Amino acid sequence: MKNKAVFLDRDGVLNKDKVDYVYTIEEFKIFDGVAKALSLLKKEGFKLIIITNQSGIAKGVYDEKAVYSCFEYLQSETGHFIDDMFFCPHHPDYDMRCECRKPGSAMILEAMSKHNIDASLSFMVGDAQRDITAGNNAGLRSIHVNNGKETAVGAVHTVADLLEAAMYIISHSI
Ligand SMILES: [Mg+2]
Ligand SMILES: [Zn+2]
Repeated sequence: MKNKAVFLDRDGVLNKDKVDYVYTIEEFKIFDGVAKALSLLKKEGFKLIIITNQSGIAKGVYDEKAVYSCFEYLQSETGHFIDDMFFCPHHPDYDMRCECRKPGSAMILEAMSKHNIDASLSFMVGDAQRDITAGNNAGLRSIHVNNGKETAVGAVHTVADLLEAAMYIISHSI
């Protein structure tokens, strides 16, 4: 039997986004309700997988180690509920054009294959159009977290934060 998953954008969904990059623990501000949301989804049987663009690596602003440090910090602050993280380090203007950078869905497809995920049982949660597009193209139902950053088309539902997204997912889960 296949697993179900919630794929999570990072910046703007789990932690407060900045105009430039978030790559230190000092600047990694986790939103209220995230630990509770993750715990509820986990209890419901979802794998929790971060899918994030981190083009600051291509630009030389920070390195992969910084991304893992922030991940470890997030895990320790929210109960170690997250199963995996996939990040795209690329940027087309700095190193290469890739398939993984969202709105590409290569990271989601790779994660689905690695964790034996059934797309039809799974969701994507993100605050940007590229998250919604990537999720939809991977066959997921995509939920838009509208934190004022941008509007998005193609989402099945719009919410204010991850906790509200978790409630929606749980009530629409099979
Ligand atoms: Mg985001
Ligand atoms: Zn990439």
